[in-house]
Amino acid sequence: MLDLAIIGSGPAALTAAIYASRAGLTVEVIEKNRMGGSLPDISYLANFPGFDGSGQDLANRLLGQIKNLGVYNDFGVCDSIKPFKIDGEEKFARSILVATGTEPIHLDLPIQKPVYYTVPSVNDNVISQNVLVIGGGNFAVSEALYLAKNTVKNLTLISHTNIKAEKRQIDELRSMKHVTIYENYEPTVDFLNAFDAIFVLVGKKPMTSFLPKELLDDDGFIITDTNYMTKIPGVFAAGDVRSGTLKQPLAAASDGAIAAINISDFLSLGKHY
Ligand SMILES: Cc1cc2nc3c(=O)[nH]c(=O)nc-3n(C[C@H](O)[C@H](O)[C@H](O)COP(=O)(O)OP(=O)(O)OC[C@H]3O[C@@H](n4cnc5c(N)ncnc54)[C@H](O)[C@@H]3O)c2cc1C
Repeated sequence: MLDLAIIGSGPAALTAAIYASRAGLTVEVIEKNRMGGSLPDISYLANFPGFDGSGQDLANRLLGQIKNLGVYNDFGVCDSIKPFKIDGEEKFARSILVATGTEPIHLDLPIQKPVYYTVPSVNDNVISQNVLVIGGGNFAVSEALYLAKNTVKNLTLISHTNIKAEKRQIDELRSMKHVTIYENYEPTVDFLNAFDAIFVLVGKKPMTSFLPKELLDDDGFIITDTNYMTKIPGVFAAGDVRSGTLKQPLAAASDGAIAAINISDFLSLGKHY
């Protein structure tokens, strides 16, 4: 019987796996899509003190660490937590950590051309043309900066409100000659059609559809107690999916570390899921 099953493989999950494994627990990481979570979608990882590189670089390091510690990892979709099921089959573990993160919010734009929700997923041909970025938060501005610094000919950023991102990054973007910014702007179809590629970077929603509603807040994020445990004893949550957290890899990693220590304490008291 596994001591801990971790759902997801982003920085929250992988940090929890490192801490739990070092505490002597048998751990399995279960991922539905791509190992590393959202990290490979980050062109340049801002806001991770002491680290200077892409999200993929950080993911590779974390995955190397869990491999060296002997953590099991497998692909599968968690489709139910009570009973605990992966790909429709019941599975058993003494505790579960949900670290399923968020996914981009999609916009239904009335246009025929390709719309992208992450920047590193596209090739240089696409981003060497006239590009529109929709969004006004940290995520949109930092990805727009990456595009503008690397390959884009002309970049326009629009936000339907005032831009609410780090001042340093907004100032840098505004200072670039090939960048145009419109705030409080509602685009027409003709406006949208004038661009070769459109990036929609307007925010994210939690991946919690497989969880009972009573575990969630009004926006679908998981509510936990001070030990990061949900209303189901033995089921914990960490990272972006947890209600009230800072949605960044550094905070997700911290969440994973604290959750793992709390899970180890929970199991050492003879309690289990
Ligand atoms: C494009 C992009 C750019 C970003 N840029 C920055 C940046 O520059 N600086 C910064 O600080 N932050 C940035 N972020 C935010 C950062 O990536 C997240 O805060 C961080 O990755 C959250 O980590 P996490 O472990 O909570 O979840 P995630 O990294 O999102 O990982 C969750 C994982 O769970 C998996 N999963 C979901 N549901 C299931 C299920 N039912 N069964 C199995 N697996 C499941 C998902 O496939 C995913 O791999 C960016 C995010 C994105 C998407």
